[in-house]
Amino acid sequence: MTTIAENIGQLRRQIRQFEQQYDRPADSVNLLAVSKRQSTQKIREANQAGLQDFGENYLQEALEKIQQLQDLRLNWHFIGPIQANKTKPIAENFQWVHSVGRAKIAQRLSDQRSSDEPALNVCVQVKLSDEATKSGVAVAEAEALCDMIEQLPQLQLRGLMAIPAALPDLASQRHSFSLLANEFARLKARYSHLDTLSMGMSNDYEAAVAEGSTLVRIGTAIFGARS
Ligand SMILES: *Cc1c(COP(=O)(O)O)cnc(C)c1O
Repeated sequence: MTTIAENIGQLRRQIRQFEQQYDRPADSVNLLAVSKRQSTQKIREANQAGLQDFGENYLQEALEKIQQLQDLRLNWHFIGPIQANKTKPIAENFQWVHSVGRAKIAQRLSDQRSSDEPALNVCVQVKLSDEATKSGVAVAEAEALCDMIEQLPQLQLRGLMAIPAALPDLASQRHSFSLLANEFARLKARYSHLDTLSMGMSNDYEAAVAEGSTLVRIGTAIFGARS
């Protein structure tokens, strides 16, 4: 059985190798540990192995873990679907939200983020044509949502996120990630401060790195199967 520290070491070596192979600058791809349905003990182990950024999908579960792990000073990323009536605890307890797909959600997150706190980092979630989930804005509407978020005082727009449908081969995975990467490049020409292209999971991060991901969201390959 491999330990979490070994998995993280292996993943870091693999990411470094893909950076070289696909002509990406060294250390341009960051690692977000997706800890949904994993224990706080496992999160502590991953933190001891050097990870600070953790992604959660389910609000109630996440709030309990954030409370229990306060001593570690972790960066918490909300990456799941967002219901409008749940935005307040998200605005109050997370540093990042990757799954902003509607203007109403963006507005509420900004209104509910305290002005004593730094702005909440957000990514606009884009629904690609073969998207696995229903969340997210169509590619054609991403720019309008970004324009709106740019005006909100307590949100800091960082980039785009997507969850493409699981595809079996590298070429088709790369194709769907390239759609998001193209939109990101277009937006960056307008908003040069954008720095985050959140794409790639355990089964497709090679394709994501090849297409320009700056943040891969990895659960299973770090922690093993979820309970
Ligand atoms: C669960 C999840 C992940 C991680 O998936 P793995 O296949 O376990 O790496 C990444 N991103 C999102 C949005 C998820 O819901």
